[in-house]
Amino acid sequence: MSTSSYDYDKPPELYDGLRLHQNENTRGCSPRVIEALAALRPEQIALYPPYKAVVDACAAHFAVTPDRIALTNGLDEGIFATSVACLRPLATGPAEAIVPQPAFEILASNAAVAGARPVEVPPRPDFEFALDEVLAAITPSTRGVFLTNPNNPTGISMPMAAIQTIARRVPKGAVVFVDEAYADFAGATFIPELPDFPNVIVGRTFAKAHGLAGLRVGAILGAPDTLAPIRQAIGVYSVNAAAVVALQAALADEAFVLDYLRQVRESKALVYAMCDRLGVKYWKSDANFVLVRTGGDPRGIATATAARGIYLRDRGSEPGCEGCIRITAGIVEHTRRGLAVLEEVLCAAH
Ligand SMILES: *Cc1c(COP(=O)(O)O)cnc(C)c1O
Repeated sequence: MSTSSYDYDKPPELYDGLRLHQNENTRGCSPRVIEALAALRPEQIALYPPYKAVVDACAAHFAVTPDRIALTNGLDEGIFATSVACLRPLATGPAEAIVPQPAFEILASNAAVAGARPVEVPPRPDFEFALDEVLAAITPSTRGVFLTNPNNPTGISMPMAAIQTIARRVPKGAVVFVDEAYADFAGATFIPELPDFPNVIVGRTFAKAHGLAGLRVGAILGAPDTLAPIRQAIGVYSVNAAAVVALQAALADEAFVLDYLRQVRESKALVYAMCDRLGVKYWKSDANFVLVRTGGDPRGIATATAARGIYLRDRGSEPGCEGCIRITAGIVEHTRRGLAVLEEVLCAAH
């Protein structure tokens, strides 16, 4: 797997272009978050953060009891802690972690870091969820199945029934991790099913819809007994005091998120319309980005748009994504700017 495809001419780290390559909220966060951060008092910074109020607010947000949630330093830490706690080597050899492809790269790489063997299941045509292939990949050594719903980089959702089937089939002691980083956009979540599936963990983030990527805050949800060993792998104070007040403020401003969701829908329609006009293949997305098969050399296309200040993500080397770029479809004005440049680059290339 490759985690080093950031070699654009101008590194995005310079923050000098329009970042449509990481699915962030490119407008920012709720003004209430900025107010809450500005109101931080010295003792809030000097003392270790208290968590009860924010965990309660988060639990209310997801309609679960507070014992079924663990806050994490971004969803990334939730994935990492789950990998470390659940994928330890077995007496018989390494644990196996099944990751249907294409997938968020961190899933397989964290499994490897934890000493497990990533088992990558190749995609079906058009990314229809490969349920039978995932079931066939389950062995007595399976300790984790890592799903992303809706998926990244495709934006495609899997049937909730498929998650249930997998959860019923994995061996005792294995977990099914459902990465719901983009569930706010899809409007569907496995969370209400969790009481019936104690071996399933749902991961959420406030980085995408809530615009808190820079503060690093996410959550994992599941049965208290399933979360217990994973909590041990999360730093005691891994969510910092600024993220705590920011998250409480963000959760209190539902209108901000609803406006972003509306813009995402409009932005996706703009991407689809451009693709239809140019006869370019794309996949309808349940997330805040669209996978587009530009054809040709997607890396060259991403480099050409980056030179003009628009960062897109080359996904051409991911399984099933040959010739594809991924574009964030968030703030409408930003989508228009990004598409104007992409269209010119595509027309020049053909
Ligand atoms: C963005 C993303 C994450 C990471 O979320 P953070 O809260 O920023 O760590 C996890 N999973 C997927 C699929 C993502 O796209």
